Amino acid sequence: VSTAGKYVQMFEKKISKYMGVKYAVSVTSCTAGLHVAMIAAKLKPGDIMVTSPITFVSTANSALFTGCDIAFADIDKESINISIKSLKALSDKFDKKIRAIVPVHFGGAPCEMEEIKKVSDNINAKVIEDAAHALGSRYKNGKRIGCCENSSMTVFSFHPVKAIATGEGGIITTNDREIY
Ligand SMILES: *Cc1c(COP(=O)(O)O)cnc(C)c1O
Repeated sequence: VSTAGKYVQMFEKKISKYMGVKYAVSVTSCTAGLHVAMIAAKLKPGDIMVTSPITFVSTANSALFTGCDIAFADIDKESINISIKSLKALSDKFDKKIRAIVPVHFGGAPCEMEEIKKVSDNINAKVIEDAAHALGSRYKNGKRIGCCENSSMTVFSFHPVKAIATGEGGIITTNDREIY
């Protein structure tokens, strides 16, 4: 028996159309969404996930739930988002042990996704965007955060302190059929 009625599917369709992405999957919170995303990214003990230290605890915790290690990149002092320079230094240091990079669009301000994608392509890591603050935000190229142009998944929060609320709630977007 499913507790997810027709409105959940309508919501997923509307969100994916709004963001210009193929698939959207509703979850009970952004934390749950990030956890599911880390599992979909196949993180395991011995792997490293890299994220920003300026975020909510669940960004790092969601990866810790898989038993992997966390490495914090520094932030860029202008944008408050993950520093590309610091990310590159970590990728040189840990190389292929890094299996996921999780940029956080702090306060809805977009991260430098093209640069992040380049680093992740070099080490074949997955990019998962923590977009808990970023519903309705756009990248510098005008596309909406959630379109997953430079990531495998993007995760949003509908907690009461975020842009819109569903009580608690979250959604994952992806263009990857297998991940979906
Ligand atoms: C709020 C928040 C989350 C977690 O969202 P929940 O829906 O409360 O689980 C994750 N990441 C960031 C950056 C947040 O601000």
